Formats: sequence, structure tokens, C-alpha cells
Amino acid sequence: MRLRLVLLAASCALASAAPSAAQTAEVQDLGHGIYRAAGVMGGTAVRVPQSNTFMIVTRDGNVIVDTSIAAAAPAHKRALTAANGGPIKAIILTHAHGDHTGGVALWKQPGTEIIAQRAHEGFSAYQLRLRGYFARSNAAQFGIGAGGGGAVGAAAASPVPPTVLFEDRYSFELGGVRFDLLHTPGETPDHLTVWIPEFKAAFIGDNFYESFPNLYTLRGTETRKALDYVESLNTVMALDPELVLPSHGPAIRGRDEIRRQLTRYRDAILYVHDATVKGMNEGKSVLTLMKEITLPPALDVGESYGKLTWSIRGIYEGYVGWYDGNVSTMFGPPSQGYVEIVKLAGGPDAVAARARQLAESDAVQALYLTDMALAVDARHRASLEARLAALRWLDAHSGNSNERGWLAAGIRDAEGRLKP
Ligand SMILES: [Zn+2]
Repeated sequence: MRLRLVLLAASCALASAAPSAAQTAEVQDLGHGIYRAAGVMGGTAVRVPQSNTFMIVTRDGNVIVDTSIAAAAPAHKRALTAANGGPIKAIILTHAHGDHTGGVALWKQPGTEIIAQRAHEGFSAYQLRLRGYFARSNAAQFGIGAGGGGAVGAAAASPVPPTVLFEDRYSFELGGVRFDLLHTPGETPDHLTVWIPEFKAAFIGDNFYESFPNLYTLRGTETRKALDYVESLNTVMALDPELVLPSHGPAIRGRDEIRRQLTRYRDAILYVHDATVKGMNEGKSVLTLMKEITLPPALDVGESYGKLTWSIRGIYEGYVGWYDGNVSTMFGPPSQGYVEIVKLAGGPDAVAARARQLAESDAVQALYLTDMALAVDARHRASLEARLAALRWLDAHSGNSNERGWLAAGIRDAEGRLKP
């Protein structure tokens, strides 16, 4: 199968006023009439995820799988429409995250079916219910202004409701191409996979990407069940695909390579799940397991997006909630003791001095110390300066984009508090 890369530099003069707007989109011809648009974001400090937009061209019209984030969608649409301008008969949403649903209104034509799994409605309602919370947490994690904060999660979640909802499976045919949609929960409860049997192609959405998955995302999420991922990856592997198209990142080609990558991914998730459950049953604390559990080298899929420690805690607390069995935490978090500890240590100046000493050798301890000193005085200068030093050290040594997003948010907060 020949791989053609068509670079359609769609200039983005009127796309959006947001500085984060995608300025160009690359369109890749993957064969069988399948095209993939991947955006290039403008701006520098922006870490907003944007999904690929896929277009499947048939003789009776085209099908879109995912529509990317609102800011990227115009460039994706221009580039894909330049490759083929046929009518859009269906838009399939792999799940109701805003980085996949942002372009639905743009792509929809009269009569276009919008297809999603049944849980799409409930998941969209959940994001909408918490839109104030998610606007703030998205803005922090992705480094975007509060105005664009709904971009990934809440408010931007599919403003155009689906016209077709299905439970386990839904099939249709267009221009001689059959599309099978399978419910494959994982990243979200409404997650689906699109399977085109004729091309042995699986659009796997966000149930696979080039990092350990975000079994828990810091911007806030309901439990993402590890065993759902495992089962859904098994469902996709049972199809025996020759082409797998994740909604983030490049396509994977070849039956053996696909089997190798998906097996390793599934086994990494299952390993972390099983080790967490084993430790819980043995009476180990969540912190102990966050420190103890590491992936064997053969299963190390990287942590550039999701992180093991967050996932272990996500699994642990996803199963049993927040109470750790320590009677004092029944009455609230340990931070209630900070003021007394700082008094005992000799006041915030003494605590800040020790934090500054540790900022480069043990930045995490330094951060905790500044939490304590700042509980006494939220604008304590030496504490904020020590905190900034620790945050900058952590940022310089982090390889995880979500972690770096929150470190940057912490830096903005401390810098803001240092201003008179
Ligand atoms: Zn996504």
C-alpha cells in the first residue's frame, strides 16, 4: 500500500480569533479512500490535544470519523475537502470529548447522520453539568485562557446532538463500503470503534495512543476502568486488523505490528491493574503502591501523556473511593494540621528556607513545605520563591505533557501571588 503525504497548507486567516487556532493541516492519503487530517497548532505554550479528522471517501458520499477540536476543525475541513469535496453523509464520533466533537457543526450538512454510542448523551450531560469545574481545570492543564477552557471537555462537548445512538453494535453501508460500529468503552463510557471489514481497518479512537493511557486525568474524570480498556483492546484485536487508526498520532500498519503494539499496550494496563488489586488485597496503601509498581521493561509503553502513579491511584480510588482507613482523615485532609506544624518549625520563614534548600535536590518535598508555609500566609514571599524554584526544576525534568501543564499552572499561580 503506497503512502502519499499531501501537504495542504490551508492558510487560516479567518479560522478563529484564538491564538491557539491550527494554521495548517496535513492530509495523509492512507489508501482505500481513507484520508487523515492532523493539525499543526499555532502558538507556543499550548498543549491542547486535538484529534485527527478522518474522511472515508465512497462513490455515494463521504464519512467523517471524529472532527478534532473547534480551533483546529476549519483547517482540517479545508484540507480534507481539497482532497475530496463529496457530500458528507455521516459523522461518527468515537467519543464525546471536545477534542473530537469540536467540528461537528462545521461538517454537518442537511441530512448528515451524526452517529454515537448510547452513553454519549449521558457523558455529554455529565461534562455540561460540571462545565464550570472543567473550564478551570482544562485551562490549567492545557495552558489556555478561561475563554477557551471548555475546548477539551465540557461546554464544547458535541453542541450538535447525534441523530443515531446505538447500544452494542451498529452497521450501515455507503457506496459499497460497510461500516461496523462497536461499543468499546475505555477512555470514556461511550467510546466506540469503527471497523471497515473490507479494508480490515479499525478506527480505535483514544483507546490506544503512544503513551501509557490516562486511566486517570488530572483535569478530572470519572473512573476509567482498566478492565474496560483490556476488553475493548481484545475486541479490536479479535477483528485481526491490518490497519489501525488511532484518533491521536499516526496509523499502525500490518497485522503483526498491530498485534505486537496492541498486545503490549493491553498487557501494560492489565499488569498495573492486577498489581494494584493485589496490593490492595494485601493491605497496602495507595502511596506504597504508587512507589512500588513499575512496568517490566518489555511492557514499558512510555509515560509522555498518562502516568503510572496517577493511574495506580485512579484504579485504587476508582474501586474503593477516597477513605484510607485512617481515623483522622475521616475529618478532612491532613492539610488541616499545617498551621500547627509551621508554628512548631519556627514560622513560615524557617520553613521557606528549608524549602529553598531542597528545591533542586528534592523538589517534591520542597513543594510540600511551601504548601505548609503558605497555609499560614498565602503571599509569603520566600515561600513563593522557593516554590517557583521547585516547580521550575520539576518542569525542566518532566517528560509528561499533562504534568508540565499543571506545573506551568502552578508557576503562573505563584508568579501571580508574588505581584504586589
Ligand atoms: Zn482525544
